[in-house]
Amino acid sequence: MAKVIDWLKQNRKLLFSLEITPPDRGKSVDDILSGIETLMPFDPQFINVTYHQPHMVYEEKEGVITRRPRRKKPGTVGICSAIRNRFQVEPVPHLICGSFNRFETEDTLIDLHFLGIENILALRGDPPPGQARYLPEKEGHQYASQLVEQIAQLNRGQYLEELEDPFPTNFCIGVAGYPEKHFESPNLEKDLVYLKHKVEMGAEYIITQMFFDFHQYKNFVEQARAMGIDVPIIPGLKPLVSKTQILTIPSSFHVNIPAELVGLIEDARTRDQAFANGIRYLARLTEQLIVYGVPGIHVFTMGQGRAAKALLETVFAGRR
Ligand SMILES: Cc1cc2nc3c(=O)[nH]c(=O)nc-3n(C[C@H](O)[C@H](O)[C@H](O)COP(=O)(O)OP(=O)(O)OC[C@H]3O[C@@H](n4cnc5c(N)ncnc54)[C@H](O)[C@@H]3O)c2cc1C
Repeated sequence: MAKVIDWLKQNRKLLFSLEITPPDRGKSVDDILSGIETLMPFDPQFINVTYHQPHMVYEEKEGVITRRPRRKKPGTVGICSAIRNRFQVEPVPHLICGSFNRFETEDTLIDLHFLGIENILALRGDPPPGQARYLPEKEGHQYASQLVEQIAQLNRGQYLEELEDPFPTNFCIGVAGYPEKHFESPNLEKDLVYLKHKVEMGAEYIITQMFFDFHQYKNFVEQARAMGIDVPIIPGLKPLVSKTQILTIPSSFHVNIPAELVGLIEDARTRDQAFANGIRYLARLTEQLIVYGVPGIHVFTMGQGRAAKALLETVFAGRR
Protein backbone atom coordinates (compact mmCIF):
# COMPACT_ATOMS: atom_id res chain seq x y z
CA MET A 1 0.00 0.00 0.00
CA ALA A 2 1.60 3.19 -1.18
CA LYS A 3 0.15 5.89 1.07
CA VAL A 4 0.85 6.22 4.77
CA ILE A 5 -2.73 7.22 5.49
CA ASP A 6 -4.19 4.22 3.60
CA TRP A 7 -1.88 1.94 5.54
CA LEU A 8 -2.96 3.50 8.81
CA LYS A 9 -6.65 3.21 7.91
CA GLN A 10 -6.62 -0.30 6.52
CA ASN A 11 -4.05 -2.18 8.51
CA ARG A 12 -4.46 -3.56 11.96
CA LYS A 13 -0.71 -4.07 12.23
CA LEU A 14 1.39 -1.37 13.86
CA LEU A 15 2.94 0.92 11.25
CA PHE A 16 6.71 0.93 11.41
CA SER A 17 8.79 3.53 9.58
CA LEU A 18 12.45 4.48 9.56
CA GLU A 19 14.06 7.84 8.99
CA ILE A 20 17.41 8.16 7.29
CA THR A 21 19.59 11.12 6.35
CA PRO A 22 21.42 11.46 3.02
CA PRO A 23 25.23 11.19 3.17
CA ASP A 24 27.40 14.30 3.09
CA ARG A 25 28.33 15.56 -0.37
CA GLY A 26 31.09 13.46 -1.85
CA LYS A 27 30.31 10.39 0.29
CA SER A 28 28.88 7.21 -1.19
CA VAL A 29 25.30 6.19 -0.50
CA ASP A 30 26.38 2.56 -0.03
CA ASP A 31 26.73 2.79 3.75
CA ILE A 32 23.23 4.24 4.06
CA LEU A 33 21.74 1.54 1.86
CA SER A 34 23.56 -1.25 3.67
CA GLY A 35 22.37 0.26 6.97
CA ILE A 36 18.81 -0.04 5.68
CA GLU A 37 19.53 -3.61 4.57
CA THR A 38 20.29 -4.63 8.16
CA LEU A 39 16.92 -3.21 9.27
CA MET A 40 14.86 -4.85 6.50
CA PRO A 41 14.14 -8.02 8.55
CA PHE A 42 11.94 -5.76 10.75
CA ASP A 43 9.79 -5.06 7.69
CA PRO A 44 9.55 -1.25 7.61
CA GLN A 45 6.58 -0.13 5.56
CA PHE A 46 7.94 3.35 4.87
CA ILE A 47 11.39 4.93 4.87
CA ASN A 48 11.60 8.69 5.34
CA VAL A 49 14.52 10.58 3.84
CA THR A 50 15.38 13.95 5.34
CA TYR A 51 16.04 17.12 3.35
CA HIS A 52 18.60 19.74 4.32
CA GLN A 53 18.78 23.41 3.55
CA PRO A 54 22.00 24.61 1.92
CA HIS A 55 24.41 26.62 3.97
CA MET A 56 24.94 29.97 2.22
CA VAL A 57 28.54 31.17 2.25
CA TYR A 58 30.12 34.39 1.02
CA GLU A 59 33.30 34.02 -1.02
CA GLU A 60 35.56 36.85 -2.02
CA LYS A 61 37.61 36.59 -5.18
CA GLU A 62 39.51 39.51 -6.65
CA GLY A 63 37.39 42.00 -4.72
CA VAL A 64 34.06 40.47 -5.79
CA ILE A 65 31.91 38.88 -3.09
CA THR A 66 29.70 36.04 -4.26
CA ARG A 67 26.99 34.26 -2.26
CA ARG A 68 27.15 30.52 -2.85
CA PRO A 69 25.04 27.62 -1.61
CA ARG A 70 26.91 24.75 0.04
CA ARG A 71 24.56 21.79 0.10
CA LYS A 72 26.14 19.47 2.61
CA LYS A 73 23.66 16.64 2.19
CA PRO A 74 22.17 16.58 -1.29
CA GLY A 75 20.39 13.59 -2.80
CA THR A 76 17.04 13.20 -1.02
CA VAL A 77 15.07 12.48 -4.21
CA GLY A 78 17.75 10.14 -5.60
CA ILE A 79 17.90 8.10 -2.37
CA CYS A 80 14.11 7.81 -2.39
CA SER A 81 14.27 6.31 -5.84
CA ALA A 82 17.13 3.97 -4.83
CA ILE A 83 15.15 2.78 -1.79
CA ARG A 84 12.12 1.97 -3.90
CA ASN A 85 14.20 0.07 -6.49
CA ARG A 86 16.39 -1.83 -4.09
CA PHE A 87 14.03 -2.65 -1.22
CA GLN A 88 10.54 -2.26 -2.71
CA VAL A 89 9.68 -0.08 0.29
CA GLU A 90 7.75 3.16 -0.10
CA PRO A 91 10.00 6.19 0.43
CA VAL A 92 8.71 9.34 2.15
CA PRO A 93 10.80 12.33 1.08
CA HIS A 94 10.87 15.28 3.42
CA LEU A 95 10.16 18.55 1.67
CA ILE A 96 11.07 21.80 3.39
CA CYS A 97 10.10 25.43 2.90
CA GLY A 98 13.64 26.75 3.47
CA SER A 99 15.67 27.49 0.31
CA PHE A 100 12.70 26.96 -2.01
CA ASN A 101 10.44 29.52 -3.56
CA ARG A 102 6.94 28.35 -4.46
CA PHE A 103 7.85 27.79 -8.10
CA GLU A 104 10.81 25.55 -7.21
CA THR A 105 8.58 23.71 -4.76
CA GLU A 106 6.06 23.06 -7.51
CA ASP A 107 8.77 21.73 -9.84
CA THR A 108 10.04 19.40 -7.10
CA LEU A 109 6.51 18.15 -6.48
CA ILE A 110 6.12 17.45 -10.20
CA ASP A 111 9.40 15.48 -10.18
CA LEU A 112 8.26 13.45 -7.16
CA HIS A 113 4.91 12.81 -8.78
CA PHE A 114 6.56 11.62 -12.01
CA LEU A 115 8.72 9.26 -9.95
CA GLY A 116 5.53 7.73 -8.55
CA ILE A 117 6.16 8.97 -5.01
CA GLU A 118 2.90 9.38 -3.13
CA ASN A 119 3.99 10.51 0.34
CA ILE A 120 5.62 13.69 1.57
CA LEU A 121 6.51 14.91 5.04
CA ALA A 122 6.03 18.69 4.76
CA LEU A 123 8.24 20.81 7.03
CA ARG A 124 9.40 24.33 7.43
CA GLY A 125 12.98 23.12 7.92
CA ASP A 126 15.66 24.21 10.33
CA PRO A 127 17.73 27.32 9.66
CA PRO A 128 21.03 26.38 7.99
CA PRO A 129 24.16 26.09 10.16
CA GLY A 130 25.39 29.45 11.35
CA GLN A 131 22.03 31.16 10.92
CA ALA A 132 20.03 31.80 14.08
CA ARG A 133 16.57 32.39 12.58
CA TYR A 134 14.62 30.76 9.82
CA LEU A 135 14.25 33.08 6.82
CA PRO A 136 12.02 32.19 3.89
CA GLU A 137 13.07 32.73 0.29
CA LYS A 138 11.44 35.53 -1.67
CA GLU A 139 8.10 34.02 -2.74
CA GLY A 140 8.80 31.06 -0.49
CA HIS A 141 6.89 29.84 2.54
CA GLN A 142 7.24 31.11 6.09
CA TYR A 143 5.42 28.17 7.70
CA ALA A 144 4.94 24.49 6.96
CA SER A 145 1.16 25.06 6.79
CA GLN A 146 1.69 27.07 3.59
CA LEU A 147 3.68 24.23 2.05
CA VAL A 148 0.92 21.80 3.06
CA GLU A 149 -1.60 24.12 1.40
CA GLN A 150 0.45 24.24 -1.81
CA ILE A 151 0.69 20.44 -1.98
CA ALA A 152 -3.03 20.07 -1.26
CA GLN A 153 -3.78 22.56 -4.04
CA LEU A 154 -1.65 20.58 -6.47
CA ASN A 155 -3.60 17.48 -5.42
CA ARG A 156 -6.68 19.38 -6.61
CA GLY A 157 -4.95 20.26 -9.89
CA GLN A 158 -4.29 23.88 -8.89
CA TYR A 159 -0.87 24.82 -10.23
CA LEU A 160 0.75 28.22 -9.71
CA GLU A 161 -0.15 29.26 -13.23
CA GLU A 162 -3.47 28.69 -14.90
CA LEU A 163 -3.30 25.62 -17.08
CA GLU A 164 -5.77 23.96 -19.34
CA ASP A 165 -6.99 20.63 -17.98
CA PRO A 166 -4.15 20.25 -15.41
CA PHE A 167 -3.31 16.85 -13.99
CA PRO A 168 -3.81 16.60 -10.18
CA THR A 169 -1.06 15.04 -8.06
CA ASN A 170 -1.90 12.48 -5.43
CA PHE A 171 0.26 13.07 -2.36
CA CYS A 172 -0.45 11.94 1.17
CA ILE A 173 0.87 14.72 3.42
CA GLY A 174 2.40 14.24 6.86
CA VAL A 175 3.66 17.00 9.18
CA ALA A 176 5.76 17.35 12.35
CA GLY A 177 4.42 17.78 15.90
CA TYR A 178 6.28 18.57 19.13
CA PRO A 179 5.22 16.92 22.41
CA GLU A 180 7.47 19.38 24.28
CA LYS A 181 6.39 22.25 21.96
CA HIS A 182 8.46 23.67 19.12
CA PHE A 183 11.36 25.66 20.53
CA GLU A 184 10.21 28.95 19.00
CA SER A 185 6.65 28.63 20.29
CA PRO A 186 5.69 30.49 23.48
CA ASN A 187 3.75 27.48 24.77
CA LEU A 188 2.29 24.11 23.76
CA GLU A 189 -1.25 25.50 23.40
CA LYS A 190 -0.12 28.03 20.80
CA ASP A 191 1.97 25.43 18.99
CA LEU A 192 -1.08 23.15 18.83
CA VAL A 193 -3.15 25.94 17.27
CA TYR A 194 -0.68 26.00 14.39
CA LEU A 195 -0.47 22.22 14.27
CA LYS A 196 -4.25 22.16 13.86
CA HIS A 197 -3.90 24.66 11.04
CA LYS A 198 -1.54 22.28 9.22
CA VAL A 199 -4.22 19.58 9.49
CA GLU A 200 -6.91 21.97 8.26
CA MET A 201 -4.70 22.78 5.26
CA GLY A 202 -4.49 19.09 4.34
CA ALA A 203 -2.07 17.17 6.59
CA GLU A 204 -3.32 13.63 7.12
CA TYR A 205 -1.05 12.46 9.92
CA ILE A 206 1.59 13.75 12.32
CA ILE A 207 5.03 12.38 13.25
CA THR A 208 6.35 13.69 16.54
CA GLN A 209 9.72 15.02 17.45
CA MET A 210 11.68 12.60 19.64
CA PHE A 211 10.78 12.50 23.33
CA PHE A 212 11.93 10.30 26.20
CA ASP A 213 8.99 10.31 28.57
CA PHE A 214 5.74 8.45 27.83
CA HIS A 215 3.64 11.10 29.61
CA GLN A 216 4.88 13.78 27.26
CA TYR A 217 3.42 11.89 24.29
CA LYS A 218 0.22 11.04 26.17
CA ASN A 219 -0.36 14.66 27.28
CA PHE A 220 0.38 15.90 23.78
CA VAL A 221 -2.12 13.51 22.19
CA GLU A 222 -4.77 14.34 24.81
CA GLN A 223 -4.33 18.08 24.32
CA ALA A 224 -4.31 17.71 20.53
CA ARG A 225 -7.54 15.65 20.63
CA ALA A 226 -9.17 18.18 22.98
CA MET A 227 -8.42 20.86 20.38
CA GLY A 228 -10.00 18.82 17.60
CA ILE A 229 -6.82 17.47 15.97
CA ASP A 230 -8.08 14.05 15.00
CA VAL A 231 -5.44 12.64 12.63
CA PRO A 232 -3.07 9.79 13.63
CA ILE A 233 -0.08 10.92 15.74
CA ILE A 234 2.91 8.62 15.25
CA PRO A 235 5.60 8.86 17.94
CA GLY A 236 9.13 9.56 16.71
CA LEU A 237 11.71 7.53 18.63
CA LYS A 238 15.42 8.03 18.92
CA PRO A 239 17.76 5.66 20.72
CA LEU A 240 19.91 7.59 23.19
CA VAL A 241 22.87 5.37 23.97
CA SER A 242 25.92 7.48 24.79
CA LYS A 243 27.19 10.22 27.09
CA THR A 244 27.85 12.45 24.07
CA GLN A 245 24.17 12.32 23.11
CA ILE A 246 23.19 13.58 26.55
CA LEU A 247 25.02 16.77 25.66
CA THR A 248 24.08 17.05 21.98
CA ILE A 249 20.41 15.97 21.83
CA PRO A 250 18.92 18.71 24.06
CA SER A 251 20.70 21.51 22.24
CA SER A 252 20.10 20.12 18.76
CA PHE A 253 16.47 19.07 19.19
CA HIS A 254 15.24 21.19 22.12
CA VAL A 255 14.00 18.22 24.13
CA ASN A 256 14.38 17.15 27.75
CA ILE A 257 16.06 13.99 28.89
CA PRO A 258 14.51 12.53 32.06
CA ALA A 259 16.77 12.14 35.11
CA GLU A 260 16.34 8.36 35.04
CA LEU A 261 17.72 8.06 31.51
CA VAL A 262 20.57 10.49 32.23
CA GLY A 263 21.48 8.38 35.28
CA LEU A 264 21.40 5.13 33.30
CA ILE A 265 23.84 6.52 30.75
CA GLU A 266 26.08 8.54 33.07
CA ASP A 267 26.42 5.82 35.69
CA ALA A 268 27.31 3.14 33.16
CA ARG A 269 30.88 1.98 33.59
CA THR A 270 31.53 1.15 29.95
CA ARG A 271 30.26 2.34 26.57
CA ASP A 272 28.64 -1.04 25.99
CA GLN A 273 26.79 -0.78 29.28
CA ALA A 274 25.57 2.74 28.43
CA PHE A 275 24.43 1.43 25.06
CA ALA A 276 22.55 -1.50 26.62
CA ASN A 277 20.94 0.74 29.27
CA GLY A 278 19.81 3.28 26.65
CA ILE A 279 18.30 0.56 24.47
CA ARG A 280 16.51 -1.03 27.42
CA TYR A 281 15.04 2.35 28.42
CA LEU A 282 13.78 3.13 24.91
CA ALA A 283 12.43 -0.38 24.40
CA ARG A 284 10.40 0.02 27.60
CA LEU A 285 9.11 3.41 26.41
CA THR A 286 8.18 1.87 23.04
CA GLU A 287 6.32 -0.96 24.79
CA GLN A 288 4.38 1.59 26.85
CA LEU A 289 3.44 3.42 23.66
CA ILE A 290 2.32 0.24 21.93
CA VAL A 291 0.19 -0.76 24.90
CA TYR A 292 -1.29 2.76 24.90
CA GLY A 293 -2.40 2.12 21.30
CA VAL A 294 -0.15 4.27 19.09
CA PRO A 295 -0.87 3.92 15.35
CA GLY A 296 2.78 3.18 14.61
CA ILE A 297 6.36 3.91 15.53
CA HIS A 298 8.85 6.01 13.60
CA VAL A 299 12.54 5.43 14.35
CA PHE A 300 15.09 8.17 13.67
CA THR A 301 18.23 6.28 12.68
CA MET A 302 20.50 9.30 11.92
CA GLY A 303 23.51 7.17 11.07
CA GLN A 304 22.94 5.01 14.14
CA GLY A 305 21.92 1.79 12.46
CA ARG A 306 23.36 -0.37 15.26
CA ALA A 307 21.26 1.35 17.92
CA ALA A 308 18.12 1.23 15.76
CA LYS A 309 18.69 -2.49 15.15
CA ALA A 310 19.23 -3.21 18.84
CA LEU A 311 16.04 -1.31 19.72
CA LEU A 312 13.98 -3.12 17.11
CA GLU A 313 15.37 -6.51 18.12
CA THR A 314 14.30 -5.85 21.69
CA VAL A 315 10.88 -4.42 20.81
CA PHE A 316 9.91 -6.84 18.07
CA ALA A 317 11.22 -10.00 19.73
CA GLY A 318 8.12 -12.14 20.05
CA ARG A 319 5.86 -9.59 18.31
CA ARG A 320 6.43 -10.65 14.71
C1 LIG B 1 9.58 14.03 12.30
C2 LIG B 1 10.45 15.25 11.97
C3 LIG B 1 11.21 15.26 10.82
C4 LIG B 1 11.98 16.38 10.48
N1 LIG B 1 12.72 16.37 9.32
C5 LIG B 1 13.44 17.47 8.95
C6 LIG B 1 14.16 17.52 7.73
O1 LIG B 1 14.16 16.58 6.94
N2 LIG B 1 14.86 18.65 7.43
C7 LIG B 1 14.89 19.75 8.26
O2 LIG B 1 15.53 20.76 7.94
N3 LIG B 1 14.22 19.72 9.45
C8 LIG B 1 13.49 18.62 9.81
N4 LIG B 1 12.78 18.61 10.98
C9 LIG B 1 12.90 19.77 11.88
C10 LIG B 1 11.90 20.90 11.55
O3 LIG B 1 12.09 21.35 10.23
C11 LIG B 1 12.15 22.03 12.54
O4 LIG B 1 11.75 21.64 13.82
C12 LIG B 1 11.59 23.39 12.16
O5 LIG B 1 12.17 24.35 13.04
C13 LIG B 1 10.07 23.50 12.26
O6 LIG B 1 9.45 22.80 11.26
P1 LIG B 1 7.85 22.62 11.24
O7 LIG B 1 7.53 21.96 9.96
O8 LIG B 1 7.39 22.00 12.48
O9 LIG B 1 7.41 24.18 11.19
P2 LIG B 1 6.04 24.93 11.40
O10 LIG B 1 4.89 24.02 11.53
O11 LIG B 1 5.99 25.99 10.33
O12 LIG B 1 6.26 25.64 12.82
C14 LIG B 1 7.43 26.42 13.07
C15 LIG B 1 7.15 27.39 14.21
O13 LIG B 1 6.25 28.42 13.76
C16 LIG B 1 5.08 28.46 14.56
N5 LIG B 1 3.98 28.75 13.64
C17 LIG B 1 3.43 27.94 12.72
N6 LIG B 1 2.49 28.59 12.02
C18 LIG B 1 2.45 29.85 12.49
C19 LIG B 1 1.71 31.04 12.15
N7 LIG B 1 0.80 31.02 11.18
N8 LIG B 1 1.96 32.17 12.84
C20 LIG B 1 2.89 32.22 13.84
N9 LIG B 1 3.62 31.12 14.20
C21 LIG B 1 3.42 29.97 13.53
C22 LIG B 1 5.00 27.09 15.22
O14 LIG B 1 4.30 27.17 16.46
C23 LIG B 1 6.48 26.76 15.43
O15 LIG B 1 6.98 27.43 16.56
C24 LIG B 1 12.01 17.50 11.35
C25 LIG B 1 11.24 17.49 12.53
C26 LIG B 1 10.46 16.39 12.83
C27 LIG B 1 9.66 16.38 14.11
